[in-house]
This record gives sequence, C-alpha cells and structure tokens, in this order.
Amino acid sequence: MRVLVLGGTSEATALAALLAAMPGVEAIMSFAGRTRAPSAPIPLRSGGFGGAEGLWQYLEAEGIDVLVDATHPFAAQISRNAEIAAARGNIPLVILSRPGWTREPQDRWTEVPDMAGAAAAIGRETRRVFLAIGRLQLAAFEAAPQHYYLIRTIEPIAPNLPHHRIIAARGPFDTEAEERLLRDEKIDVIVAKNSGAAAVFAKILAARRLGLPVIMVERPAEASGVGVRAAHAAEALALILGHGPRAALRGV
Ligand code: NAP
Repeated sequence: MRVLVLGGTSEATALAALLAAMPGVEAIMSFAGRTRAPSAPIPLRSGGFGGAEGLWQYLEAEGIDVLVDATHPFAAQISRNAEIAAARGNIPLVILSRPGWTREPQDRWTEVPDMAGAAAAIGRETRRVFLAIGRLQLAAFEAAPQHYYLIRTIEPIAPNLPHHRIIAARGPFDTEAEERLLRDEKIDVIVAKNSGAAAVFAKILAARRLGLPVIMVERPAEASGVGVRAAHAAEALALILGHGPRAALRGV
C-alpha cells in the first residue's frame, strides 16, 4: 500500500513513525518546504505540487492508495487541494487533525476569527505581546505598531514591526520554561492560534497559571466533508490500514 502524508505537524511525524514500522506500507511525507524539514523515518519530498491539479497528478503518477492530510488546521489551502485531488482520483482521504483546545473556567481568552481581529483585540494602549503564531501572518500586526512584540518562529525572520524581539525555536515547549519566558519578558497578552497541538500547548497552560489573557485565533472553517477524520496518529493508522491498495480494490 502506498500512502502520501501531507505533513508539517508533530501529528504527521508521529504517524510517519507508525507507518515506517508497518510491513507492506510504503509511505512518503510531503512538506511545503518553508522551514527545515524535521527528520522522519520515511522518505520525504518538499515543495508545492502546483495546486489541486498538480497534487492529483502526483497521486496518479506515484500510484498512491491512501492520501493523508496531516497538515496544520490553519493550512486551509492544501487541505482544500487534498479534498479536490482525492475526490477526483477516487482516492481515500484520511484527515488527521487534533481537536482544538477548549477553554477552562480560569482561562482569560478572547476568541477572534482571524489575525486582523487579533491585532485589533490587543487594544490601543501599548502592551507587551507574545506572538506565537508562526511567521506567515505577522503583517497583520503592522496595523498595531505601538506594541512590543516577542515573536517566536521556527526560522529567524525580519518583521516590519518597530518594537520586537525574535526567538527562533521549534516545539515541543515546556510549561515551566514558558512561564519563565512570559515573566522575564513581562508579557501582558499572548496571541495564539487554536491548533490543538500538544507540542505548543505549554504557553496556554503557562498563561492559565499566570492569569494572563490570551487572544485565541479560531480555526478556519473545515473543508467540505470529503474524507474521514482522525484525532490522533494511531486512529489515522487504523483508518489507513482499513483501505486496501487501489490495485486490489480494482481487482487488478
Ligand atoms: P496553505 O496555505 O494551506 O498552503 C499553501 C501552499 O503550500 C499549498 O497550496 C501547497 O502548494 C503548499 N503546501 C502546503 N502544505 C504542503 C505540504 N505538506 N506538502 C506540499 N506542499 C504543501 O499552508 P500554510 O498555512 O502556508 O502552511 C504550510 C505548511 O506549514 C503546511 O504543510 C502546514 O502543515 C505547515 N504549518 C502551518 C502552520 C500554519 O499556522 N499555517 C503552522 C504549522 C505548520 P501547491 O498548491 O503548489 O501544492
């Protein structure tokens, strides 16, 4: 069975480890190629496919039996492409996506639909803001240049924000270290995306402990309903193994 995993998340890496141990399964992991790919126990490919059409062509050319969308919940375009390509090629699609985090009574969250909403929600008064949102949507905060931004991204970047400091780091992060960072930097408010990922939950837990407000950007709407959903890697593996190779399905 040939499996293509669209990756870029720790859940995808966990699934790759499970697939690597499965006899009779040949899995490939695909990355967008924006950051250094983490090591994985299965072959990797990097870079876009050229839209849904290019992905469909890749699936056909590589004889992929099952497509797994294990991309980040905020990576909406590639998820849409995966649905279109899977439907077109009549290829089973497994969507591996953790549920979002849920607010506890002691949490001080302001939920906003997008980054522009997050930038506005910080307010007019100058604040010290921890931006833990990656680097793709930092431009939204150019609308609020009065704040100091502590920005954590995987690769170093040069944002167009007058008052900032960059920390280049990749999760998983530890709650005590996150608490220390928030205290040392005298952070007033955190901006986060509700990814649901365990690897980056420590900042949310640290905010809960310190009583800090969090501006939580909600997930984009889920795509159309093509595919079956799994909440963790083992569940995705079971769904993948439930599909035979396409050749077998066709009786070839
Ligand atoms: P996006 O807007 O959904 O995708 C933009 C384009 O990047 C896609 O159309 C596709 O290009 C290419 N692409 C994305 N993921 C790919 C993959 N796994 N393999 C090959 N090509 C891929 O995605 P994004 O928000 O820019 O995120 C890019 C990657 O970073 C994703 O793989 C995601 O899992 C990871 N990531 C994203 C976030 C986030 O907050 N957005 C956070 C952590 C990790 P073509 O159309 O040319 O195929």
